[in-house]
Amino acid sequence: MNPEQLWQATLGELELSLSKANFTTWFKQTAIASLENGRVVVSVPNTFTKTWLEKKYQKTLLSSLSRLTDREVKEIVFQVGARPALFNPSSSAVPISISINHGATPVNTMVNEGGLNPRYVFTTFIIGKGNELAHAAAKAVADKPGLAYNPLFFYGGVGLGKTHLLQAIGNEIRRREPNKRVLYATCETFTNEFIEAIRSGRGKKFHDTYRNVDVLLIDDIQFISGKTETQEAFFHTFNDLHQANKQIAISSDRHPKAIPTLENRLISRFEAGMITDIAPPDFETRSAILETKCQEKNYQLSEEIIRFLAANIQSNVRELEGVLNKIIAFHQLKNIPPTLDFIKTMLISTQQANKKSFTPKQLIQTVAAFYDIQIEELLGQSREKRLAYPRQIVMYLLREDLRSSYPAIGHELGGRDHTTAMHACEKIARNLENDPRLKHEIDMIKQRLCTG
Ligand code: ADP
Ligand code: MG
Repeated sequence: MNPEQLWQATLGELELSLSKANFTTWFKQTAIASLENGRVVVSVPNTFTKTWLEKKYQKTLLSSLSRLTDREVKEIVFQVGARPALFNPSSSAVPISISINHGATPVNTMVNEGGLNPRYVFTTFIIGKGNELAHAAAKAVADKPGLAYNPLFFYGGVGLGKTHLLQAIGNEIRRREPNKRVLYATCETFTNEFIEAIRSGRGKKFHDTYRNVDVLLIDDIQFISGKTETQEAFFHTFNDLHQANKQIAISSDRHPKAIPTLENRLISRFEAGMITDIAPPDFETRSAILETKCQEKNYQLSEEIIRFLAANIQSNVRELEGVLNKIIAFHQLKNIPPTLDFIKTMLISTQQANKKSFTPKQLIQTVAAFYDIQIEELLGQSREKRLAYPRQIVMYLLREDLRSSYPAIGHELGGRDHTTAMHACEKIARNLENDPRLKHEIDMIKQRLCTG
């Protein structure tokens, strides 16, 4: 296995246990710079990433690397700027076709003009009960841009095909009418370009980029939450395009009404078009997806194994793909054939690796003890700052470390509303960026949790 393949397989494992945003943030620009005498040097873009990876992921990465190389790798270090060659699938020593999805901007797939990735097309999208409406609406929009539903807005959980569908709309329109100007951008890109435009006084360029299009596809719009000026910019872009009958399609992880601080005027614009949800695939759809992905990758799995995987991996399509990639990696890189027993063990070890070592109860106890307050106070209704603040930290950690859903977090904290949980998590995440004290406190709490 060459370093490139090794890093892909390692990230493939890790990807399963992280949110996409998290994964993209920390691993997008990483690669193995060298691998010598059991020591892996991973290049990272900046010191911030270096510190973070050292602190949060060193152990996990090392154990994956060690496992994948039969304990050959014994040490991992992170180095800023040791510029590696970017992943280039064609340079692989072994002619295999593993494509591990690295999120919105995959490192190992071509992204064409307009931000479109040719991999995401309608023909490879499997239709099931959970996504048939979203799929039909996307098709309709691709058939008659600007005329069917405008805007088209779909929302659903992680890994359910939102990006795939958005991109499929763009690819399909371009296939039929190559002259149409299609632009795909994540909300993050839109925001960054907007901020950059303001900073550098190049407002016109920004304006032109987003106005001179026939089709605008914006992914993960929920990240616009809390960004007043970006919302303003988006509102005007939206209006200009809409008035000119240009097609707009938007994805989000939740309904517009559930996006905290999303302005009403934007909500009502979205509601004027078509809003549809995407639900997780059922068993039949999961099986069909696995079969198709196997075909795409030119790989065979027995019916028994497909059924086993479809029955046991229920959360989302990305996870299904991740496990499939892992099976193929083990087979092709390590020569371990996919027997049912092997796959069972593999799934159990993945699930255990993902399981965190503390419970919500322990978290609540630890935070209460840390801030010297009573558990009853923490779960109670008082909004005193000395109670509200630790409460928000509990919610944030429930979300970040235990991946609880917002309703579950609300429930855990004495029956609060899910929007309260959402606000709390976002507030802490925001504050963490420029409040070293808060960061320190959270680190201490985590330390206490881990040392139990
Ligand atoms: P989201 O944007 O909702 O988080 P993605 O669109 O990135 O999810 O999908 C995750 C992965 O699963 C992608 O590789 C995508 O191609 C695949 N996928 C999701 N839904 C389907 C589907 N219905 N049929 C085929 N592949 C799918
Ligand atoms: Mg997506």
